[in-house]
Amino acid sequence: MSLERLADLIFTGVDKTPTYYVEKYPKRDLKEGAKVTRYAPSPTGFQHIGGVFAALVSERIASQSKGIFFLRIEDTDQKREVEGAIEDTIETMYNFGMSFNEGMTGDTTSKGEYGPYRQSERAEIYKTFAKELIQKGLAYPCFCTPEELEAMREKQIAEKLTPGCYGEYAIYRELSTDEAIKKIENGDNYIIRLKSPGNPEKRVVFHDLIKGETSFPENNQDIVLIKGDGLPTYHFAHIIDDALMGTTHVIRGEEWLSSLPIHVQLFDILGFTRPEYAHIPTIMKLDGSSKRKLSKRKDPESAVSYYKEQGYPKASVVEYLLNIINSSFEEWRAENQTVNYHEFPVALDKMSKSGALFDIIKLNDVSKDVISKMKADEVYALYTEWAKEYDEEMYQLVTSHEAIARQIFNIDKDGQKPRKDFAKWAEVREKICYFFMPLFEKESIDQIELPKNMVLSEAVRIIEAYLEAYQYDTDQETWFEQLKAVAIELGYTADRKAFKKTPEAFKGMVSDVAGAVRAALTHRANTPDLYTIMHIIGEEEVRSRLGLFVKSIQ
Ligand code: GLU
Repeated sequence: MSLERLADLIFTGVDKTPTYYVEKYPKRDLKEGAKVTRYAPSPTGFQHIGGVFAALVSERIASQSKGIFFLRIEDTDQKREVEGAIEDTIETMYNFGMSFNEGMTGDTTSKGEYGPYRQSERAEIYKTFAKELIQKGLAYPCFCTPEELEAMREKQIAEKLTPGCYGEYAIYRELSTDEAIKKIENGDNYIIRLKSPGNPEKRVVFHDLIKGETSFPENNQDIVLIKGDGLPTYHFAHIIDDALMGTTHVIRGEEWLSSLPIHVQLFDILGFTRPEYAHIPTIMKLDGSSKRKLSKRKDPESAVSYYKEQGYPKASVVEYLLNIINSSFEEWRAENQTVNYHEFPVALDKMSKSGALFDIIKLNDVSKDVISKMKADEVYALYTEWAKEYDEEMYQLVTSHEAIARQIFNIDKDGQKPRKDFAKWAEVREKICYFFMPLFEKESIDQIELPKNMVLSEAVRIIEAYLEAYQYDTDQETWFEQLKAVAIELGYTADRKAFKKTPEAFKGMVSDVAGAVRAALTHRANTPDLYTIMHIIGEEEVRSRLGLFVKSIQ
């Protein structure tokens, strides 16, 4: 009877029972095998690429099984909350091709029958369950002050004992109910702790869908269920939320793996069926020869905003993350060049058990591939969208020369092996700026990349001769014949064998002459096909650039 009084005293006004909530949220009517997963961030405002990674795994697992993927906001630590963070999370996930079937839809709105989907709005629910645990003597109020807890912790560490509140250190565990009532009536501060029934001599075994079979000692810590502010800890909220929301697969970061004994125990105590767990590896990065966690402070690529600023198409980031999720994605992609990535079956048991290595070079490769497969019009649209925000000058140039820009983005798109020029939109400027006179003009003579072993005066001699012979309106073959004729006239050869045999008999090869023309027109040694470039910039500009080259060097 006095436990009832204690429970009523602590949870005055809590008048529902756990059964009420269990009945309020019935089992979902889903087809066999459908999985219910969630993304459950804290609204701290910082979108870490690891969050997109975790969400992507959960979204794929739900979506490919025709299940439900929902968004729950874990805001029980209200100190860390940032305004607008929920909308930002939703937008970020949406941009990476993920949408939620249920859950929060904005800072104050939600959809779905299993809400509220924001933990701070579920306080009543957590209290109802905690109240029952008090009534059953499975939880208790703990009156330790933070200073007492700290002193206890220091003592335990000094004595090389496991720190925490357990056994003889759980000093309020055995306080009589009447004493507890008295202290509460007296206005003493308290929190609610679990009266853990665990015995660390015994082990719990479970099967993690990524890590495989694992076992841990049973939990014997009297962990905190409800904090002083009346809100639950992560542990308690996780159990109640995922049970009532019908989550079938808890997919979360491996930093939670060590808490699993607590969670398993709480599921059992509360009489809920345990979900399946999949603990995904932390995203790591190679630093020198050692691996470390991708750090918010040190690594700009840890922030989702980085990818937007650099102009990685979202599809590139998603495809790259799929590569990390399942290394077989690469092979699948090679065999299914144009298929939507949704068709790739993500398999949890094929995920790396240790760290997932994040490698920007690999991301660039994947992204080059993704961009090379886009049609020129898509490249134009995405690039101008990016440039509008991040490179005003290029935006102006590209949009005011739209026809030319579309042709540039279309160079070598048709063949079996489309060009792989760009990994991100921030690289486009450097690769195409020479097409635009205002930028080309600004380049200095020392930027000109001449063919190997060619001096400037020789390049000028070539360009003068070429300018005389140049005809715009020809097909590629005739164009090349003309170039060859100029080359031979100037003492170069088209005969590789002859050149190899007696190099001293020639000035060089036709390719050197082409290289000089390329240098005069673009200042670069590596560009797409020269004939195509000349056609894009047009006769007048070819002539003026060649003339300019001769003039600027004399
Ligand atoms: N709010 C937790 C976190 O951000 C969620 C962990 C989970 O998915 O259960 O780490």
